[in-house]
Amino acid sequence: MIVVLSKGISTHDKEMVRIYLKDRGFAIRDQLLGEDEVIGATGKGVVDLRELGILPGVERVAATSKPYELASRESKSEDTIVTVGPVKIGGSRITVIAGPCAVESREQILETALRVRESGAVMLRGGAYKPRSSPYAFQGLGMQGLEFMKAAGEATGMPIVTEVVSPEFAAQMNDLTDMFQIGARNMQNFELLKKVGALGKPVLLKRGPSATIEEWLLSAEYLLAAGTRDVVLCERGIRTFETYTRNTLDISAIPVVKGLSHLPVLVDPSHAVGIRAKVSSAALAAVAAGADGLTVEVHPHPDEALSDGPQSLFPEQFERLMRDIEALAPVVGKELLRTPKPSQELSTKSVDLSSGTPKPVSPKDLPVAFSGESGAYAEQALMRAFGEEAPRLGAASFRAVFDAVLDGSAGFGVAPVENSLAGSVHENYDLFLRYPDIAIVGELKLRIVHCLIGEENAQIENISIVRSHPQGFAQCRDFLDKYPHWQLEACNDTATAVASIAREGATKVAAIAGEAAAKAHGLKVLKAGIETNPLNYTRFVIIARRNGSDKAPVPPSLGSEPANKASLVFSVSDEPGSLFACLKIMSERGINLSKLESRPIQGKPWEYQFYVDVTLPPTEETFDAVVQELKAKTEDFHFLGSYRASL
Ligand code: PEP
Ligand code: MN
Repeated sequence: MIVVLSKGISTHDKEMVRIYLKDRGFAIRDQLLGEDEVIGATGKGVVDLRELGILPGVERVAATSKPYELASRESKSEDTIVTVGPVKIGGSRITVIAGPCAVESREQILETALRVRESGAVMLRGGAYKPRSSPYAFQGLGMQGLEFMKAAGEATGMPIVTEVVSPEFAAQMNDLTDMFQIGARNMQNFELLKKVGALGKPVLLKRGPSATIEEWLLSAEYLLAAGTRDVVLCERGIRTFETYTRNTLDISAIPVVKGLSHLPVLVDPSHAVGIRAKVSSAALAAVAAGADGLTVEVHPHPDEALSDGPQSLFPEQFERLMRDIEALAPVVGKELLRTPKPSQELSTKSVDLSSGTPKPVSPKDLPVAFSGESGAYAEQALMRAFGEEAPRLGAASFRAVFDAVLDGSAGFGVAPVENSLAGSVHENYDLFLRYPDIAIVGELKLRIVHCLIGEENAQIENISIVRSHPQGFAQCRDFLDKYPHWQLEACNDTATAVASIAREGATKVAAIAGEAAAKAHGLKVLKAGIETNPLNYTRFVIIARRNGSDKAPVPPSLGSEPANKASLVFSVSDEPGSLFACLKIMSERGINLSKLESRPIQGKPWEYQFYVDVTLPPTEETFDAVVQELKAKTEDFHFLGSYRASL
C-alpha cells in the first residue's frame, strides 16, 4: 500500500501517519514517487482505508494488489518520464540509445559515437565491464574504458549508459556514467540493485533471460525502494526452446508491462535476436508494440568487434533503421526524440507592460500557444514538439494563437494546417496572410485517433447531439452516416466540445475528440477509433514572430537540421500561362512541389490564390533567387517560412 502525502505536509502530521501505520502492524518506509512524497507500507497490517485517507496531510491512499508497489501502475497512473541529461525516456517519444557492445579503444568508441549521433541516436551505450559467459573472452577495459566512453559522450553531446557488474564498482563508476545498466545476468543480484538504486542515478534494468515479468518488476522495485526514481525497463529476449535466434524477443511483454507499470520500457533487439540481419525487423516490431525506445548495438567494423560482432549493426544499417523508425513513430502516436540543439541563442523583444519599455525576452522562456482546451490535439502536438513540461497557453481560437505570438505573450504557437483525410485548414492559411509578421518555423505530423466521448452515464443509443470541430465531423463521416438522426454542432475545437459536455453534464450529447480530451475532462470514451481511415494525420505548423527580416527563431527542441521545406502563398494575373510561368521557375531549378492548392481570394469573386509547399534545394541562395523571380511574376506574394519537414 502506498500513502501519497500532500505537498507541504508538516513534520508532525507525517509522524502521525507513520505512527498510525506502525500501530496497525505495517512496516513502513519513506519514498519519492515521481514528484510525490509517499510512505510505502508493507506487511499483514489491517487498516480502514477511508480513515487513513482523511488523516491530515494524506493526499490519497493507493492499495496495490501487486507484490511490487512503487513500480506498479496502481500506485501511479501517469507514465514516468525518466530524464538523463538532455534526454527523456517515456511518454510520447521514441528514444534510441546506440553504441558498441564493449568499449574497445578511445578511437573505436568515439567513431561509433559520431556515427550513431549522426543517424539520430540520443544516448551512447557501451560496456566497460563485460559479463561474459566464458572467463577467457574479452572482459572489457574497466574504468579506462568508461573514461574513453565519457569523453566520446561529451564530444558528441550524448549522455552515456554502461553496465555495472558488481556493487564494489558502483561508486567509482557513478562519477563518470549518466545512467547505470543492470545486465540481464544480474537482474536478481539484489545487493547490486540495492547499492545502485541508492546512488539515485537513472538505471536501465534488463530483464533476466529466464525472469518472469513479475520477477523483473520486483527487481525494479528493489531499485525504487533503494532510492532512485528513474528506472527504465529493458526487454532483451528470454530463453525459450527456440535456438535459431540467440534469445526470443518477448514482444507481448511490452504492452503487458506498460499496463502493469508506469515505468518506461525499452527494447534491446540486438541481444534478443543475436543476428545482425534480423535486428532491424525486431526493432521496428518493438516500436510498433509500444516500446518507448531501443538500445541497439552498432560497431563501425562489426567483423573486428571484440564482443557481439555478429549482432552489431553496421552504421549504415543503423541509419536506415532510424529512418524507418521516424516513419513508423507517428503511426503509434509517437515522435522520434532528437537531441535538442546545443544552445542556440534566441532573442526577440517583448513589451514590458508595466514600464512600457521593450525588454529582451527569449521566446523559449515564454509559453507556447495552442487553440483549445486541455486535451486538444494541438496540445498533444505542442507537447510532442516542446516536451510535456513546456508551459502552454490555451487560446480561444486560431486567431488568438496568432495574436499571442505577435504580442509576445507566447514565444511560439502551434496551429493545424492540413489533415490527410479532410484537407487544408483554410482558416489558418488565411491568418498567415493577415499576420505577415508571423512565420512558420517548424512542422509536426500527429496521428489523429478520434473517439466518441460522453458523460459517465451516456449510452450511444440515447445520443441525439454530437459536437466537434468541423474537421472532426469530416474525418468521421462513415461513422456519422450510421446515425443520420444525430444533430451536429460545430465547435471551435474538439477539446472545447468535450469541455462543454463536462460543464453541462448532458447525457444526450457526445463529442468527437481525442482520448486525451476525455481524460482531461473526466468523461468516458463511448467508442474509440471512429475516424473513417486509420491513416489519419494532421500536419501542425509551429509559428513564431519574425525578427524584423524574414528570419524567425526556431524552437531548440526542433533540432538543428537545416530547413528543407518552404511554404508560399501567391496569386497570379488572370491570363493564359501565368501559373505555368511560376511553376516553370521552380521546375527549372529542380524544386519539387509537395503541395499546390488553389483557394478563392476573399473579397475578389472568382479570383484565386495558390498555397504552395516546396522541397528546398540544399543551398538557400538558390531559393532566395527563386523567391525574387517568383515575386516578379506573381501578385501578392507571401513567404510563410522555411523549416525542417517532418516525415
Ligand atoms: C549488453 O547490453 O551488452 C549486455 C551484456 O546485455 P544483456 O545483459 O542483456 O545480455
Ligand atoms: Mn552485447
